[in-house]
Amino acid sequence: MRKLILVLLVGLCLQAGATAEKSQPVRKNILLFTVDSCRADRFGLYGYRNATTPNIDAWARTGTAFTEAYSTSAWTAPGLASILTGLYPPTHGINNRDTAGTSRLLSLNKFFRERGYKVPNINFFTFAPYYRNLGLGPIENQYLSQTPGEEIGKWLKQNASASQPFFVWYHCTTIHQPYNPPDTELPAPREELMKSPGIKAVMSGAIVPTNSTRFQDADRPVLNALYDGELRRLDRIFKSALDALAEQGVLRNTIVILTADHGEELLDHGFVGHASTSLNAKLYQELVRIPLIISCPGLVPSGRRISRAVDQTDIFPTLLKLLSLEPLAHLQGQPLFSGRERPHFFESVIAGNQTTREREHIWVRGVLDKGHKYISTGELYDLRKDPQEKSNLHASRPELVTRLKTQLDEWLGKTTSLRAQLFPPDPRPARPDSLTAPAIFTPENGKRLDYEVHTGALLFDWSGNMETTYVVQYDIGTGDHHVEGTYEAKGNHQVLGPFSRELWENLKAWNPFKIRVSPKTDPPVWSAWTTFEF
Ligand SMILES: [Zn+2]
Repeated sequence: MRKLILVLLVGLCLQAGATAEKSQPVRKNILLFTVDSCRADRFGLYGYRNATTPNIDAWARTGTAFTEAYSTSAWTAPGLASILTGLYPPTHGINNRDTAGTSRLLSLNKFFRERGYKVPNINFFTFAPYYRNLGLGPIENQYLSQTPGEEIGKWLKQNASASQPFFVWYHCTTIHQPYNPPDTELPAPREELMKSPGIKAVMSGAIVPTNSTRFQDADRPVLNALYDGELRRLDRIFKSALDALAEQGVLRNTIVILTADHGEELLDHGFVGHASTSLNAKLYQELVRIPLIISCPGLVPSGRRISRAVDQTDIFPTLLKLLSLEPLAHLQGQPLFSGRERPHFFESVIAGNQTTREREHIWVRGVLDKGHKYISTGELYDLRKDPQEKSNLHASRPELVTRLKTQLDEWLGKTTSLRAQLFPPDPRPARPDSLTAPAIFTPENGKRLDYEVHTGALLFDWSGNMETTYVVQYDIGTGDHHVEGTYEAKGNHQVLGPFSRELWENLKAWNPFKIRVSPKTDPPVWSAWTTFEF
């Protein structure tokens, strides 16, 4: 009896010890490195053979790689918001043009800042409305750089230290269209490549609408080479971040995560790009299968590969688990190292960031369960037999279609209603956009516009929202060809044209074109001038 009590006591003590140890939070730095438009299958570690990612491959061997990781969407804002909030797009609500969820959203940035971490914002594009409720803080302009990709190394070299833990999120946008790798990475001289209208379009413009240009068979290897070149540049940028961590002596004490917002189509299903660039959302594997690799010596297993399907919502709960912090009940993902098999869901509004008011109700949704993928465009694929999604089984497997469609409908209902439960309306309205100076996204300042690339149309696009009335001020041309004035525009998105080629040519006589915008307020709050030429 005494022995039994002793055994029980020892057992209890051990358990208490274990619990005490477990509840003690672990202090680690976190580098969350996300990549725009980055499909998984072009990485060496995922089986690609063109030596695109030697540095990432070597680093991945020091951590764990997930071979079936998925984005929740096919464009930037919803995917990044899923990573930062651990929620699916219908729940976080950052899933349509200019939507921002609510100020009650809990992001990794808010979470770690509250716990005393240094949490910088070095992502230039986060002035867009999507990001205003994620607690990112003001953009720290001193780290922005003319050379894309330098921001993260710069921040780490100046700030990473053992004295205060940091959570730094860096979103690398270099791969995003236009594909413009350094000249040394080009498969032929630039002028030569530009002779193909399709290649010219993807090398020149950030937006290439579906069917706006025709690709030829000969474009395929060129396109692959351009994307590979962009990946090699990414590989060097990522290496520079690891080097900066090592130089500062904090690499061993940092959880490093590399993943993407969504993938990218490279003629796999007839065109190039993703929802916001092709204006035609698709949810095929090349668009939703993304890289996901995590490292941290002593905390994350090294040299391991996990093939269970996981998604972006799993990153937040994984960090809590790795740091021995209490799980948060509202998160929709599960810890990457201990989760179970589950279906994965995808959603994209038709043209992502470029969705117009007329098209904001057009959605494409999908579900992937046990190797079968159903897409709401009337498609069903067996990924185990048909990983490239070429053979649509929708007509031949009606019972499976019904099951998956029901699953998708239930998910949409549940995740949408959860949003209302988790985030009741804001106690007071957020600062209205009408008081802040907009930033003009398109056209890019200093750009010459190309007729083919822009399919004859002129797109104006600035930060703000679709409800506000804006004043556009223009100052066009010089000397005899000079005109200036203002006009009003509803919403922060305008398409003028398409114009005939002849008119486009005639507009050149009026170069340069300058515009700036302000919400219709008194006094106005003007954006900076943007100058462009035809
Ligand atoms: Zn993106």
